[in-house]
Amino acid sequence: MIDTAAGSSLSDGPDPTSSPADAPAPAKTAWRCELCGFVEEMDALPIGYGCPVCGAPRAQFKRIER
Ligand SMILES: [Zn+2]
Repeated sequence: MIDTAAGSSLSDGPDPTSSPADAPAPAKTAWRCELCGFVEEMDALPIGYGCPVCGAPRAQFKRIER
C-alpha cells in the first residue's frame, strides 16, 4: 500500500495576510521653539520645560499639529 500524504488540494483562495499597513495614527502634536526652531514631539510640554538648544522657556514654544 502506498500511503501518500500529499493531498493535492491546492486552495487558491485569497491569502489572509494580517499586516496592518496603515494604522490610523492619532494626530501628533509637536512644539516648536520660536527662537531656534527646535521641534519637540510630545503631547504637552511639562511645566518648567526649557528648550534644550537655546534654553528658551516653555512659553516660547508654539504648538504645531501634523
Ligand atoms: Zn530653542
